[in-house]
Amino acid sequence: MRLFNTETGQKEELVPVEPGKVKMYACGPTVYDYIHVGNARPVIVFDVLRRYMEFRGYDVTFVQNFTDVDDKIIDRANREGVPCEEITERFIKEYFTDAQGLGVQPATFHPRATEHIGGMLEAIQTLIDKGCAYAVGGDVWFRTAAFKDYGKLSGQNLEDLQAGARVDVNSVKENPMDFALWKSAKPGEPSWPSPWGEGRPGWHIECTVMVNHYLGKTIDIHAGGQDLTFPHHENEIAQSEALNDCKFANFWLHNGFLSIDNKKMSKSLGNFFTVRDAANAYGYDAIRMFMLMSHYRNPLNYSGEILVQAKAGLERLYTAVENLEFLLKNGCRGELCSPAEQEFLNGLSVYKDRFIEVMDDDFNTADGIAVIFELVREINAATAGASDPSKPFVEGCLAAIRELTDVLGLLYAQADGEADLDTKVETLIEARQQARANKNWAEADRIRDELKDMGIILEDTPQGVKWKRG
Ligand code: AMP
Ligand code: ZN
Repeated sequence: MRLFNTETGQKEELVPVEPGKVKMYACGPTVYDYIHVGNARPVIVFDVLRRYMEFRGYDVTFVQNFTDVDDKIIDRANREGVPCEEITERFIKEYFTDAQGLGVQPATFHPRATEHIGGMLEAIQTLIDKGCAYAVGGDVWFRTAAFKDYGKLSGQNLEDLQAGARVDVNSVKENPMDFALWKSAKPGEPSWPSPWGEGRPGWHIECTVMVNHYLGKTIDIHAGGQDLTFPHHENEIAQSEALNDCKFANFWLHNGFLSIDNKKMSKSLGNFFTVRDAANAYGYDAIRMFMLMSHYRNPLNYSGEILVQAKAGLERLYTAVENLEFLLKNGCRGELCSPAEQEFLNGLSVYKDRFIEVMDDDFNTADGIAVIFELVREINAATAGASDPSKPFVEGCLAAIRELTDVLGLLYAQADGEADLDTKVETLIEARQQARANKNWAEADRIRDELKDMGIILEDTPQGVKWKRG
């Protein structure tokens, strides 16, 4: 498979360092609030990349961190008058509620920066010993001039960056591009003891150390939102390569922005919707569908209208699967495929081939979804026309759809059954009441039979219709 590498600006063949195994890291959220829909984009698209690589047979180790020491966390803790850990615990929990709702599989590891302070202190000391960092008054700075490739990810060089940087005359830095590895403690902030005094780590060194700890010195894929390319990822490269004298990440993947009215959705601009609110309005699975209907690198505009369209598309897929499941339960002839049915099932492999082709090309989920719609259209046509399909035929159709929707993590809301069954039963009961009100007794009886086939027993009581599972 080929992936677009920000560093080279090209699509390149994925060749893992260790054959068959992929080591991947994605920068995770800073946990001081609910995540917004923009934050959910990397979470969803890189979950799909991980699933797809597994589908293609790779053994994937996927790490996504939590940034749990940061100015914004400290601000919120001070505002609420509670310790920082209370804020981070709360929003890590809320993150998992949203991630699970969005059908995102937990990463192999979800480290928190504060669990790795020891590793950060070691890394900073080594950088100082190697002449790549210097301490001034309790702070430690990375010496960008000591890393000759500084700027290689974002395609800039140190001189140009320096020329463009605002120079602070009071700065103790040797170069305006030098960045903090360790920050001396200010009153009221969380801090840890260090050889340079009480303080806390800079954001960039956190990721470098967690990457090295869980995945090693050279990893296959490092991912994050496009805004992290510079300076965050550039600085991660400088630190890791200066430390380990080897390449840090072979692939750099960046998702495009989610915008509102063509402005990046962000906390600071105030133009954001939380995932929680959007999920209440449209459903978590509609948000996932909406994200995957576009290529992950393209800009994506958020609007209620597109969410509604995504939901409608998803509904078509759910309906197709429900119809097949219904046929399986109620309307299937014998256990053997007819030759024509077998031929039809064999023919469905073209959709899988096509799906792999588009997903192998920088995991183009937009085209992948288009392939799934074509597959569903063909299956709908075949089953609607079949007077008496066989069980293996219907099972084969169902499996062909599920195999591909599972790679994208779609249709999971239906899989966790109970709640959906309840909704379906209530809807049918309501339809039956309607039929009776219209004196359409035949239809009312038909619905009663349909419910009976689903194992549902109805009881007409003075308080209305009650139901139970038989
Ligand atoms: P933060 O919590 O701000 O560090 O962001 C967590 C992740 O969400 C990072 O990978 C960001 O690049 C990403 N992100 C933030 N805002 C957006 C947006 N509007 N569109 C896409 N990705 C975003
Ligand atoms: Zn990071």
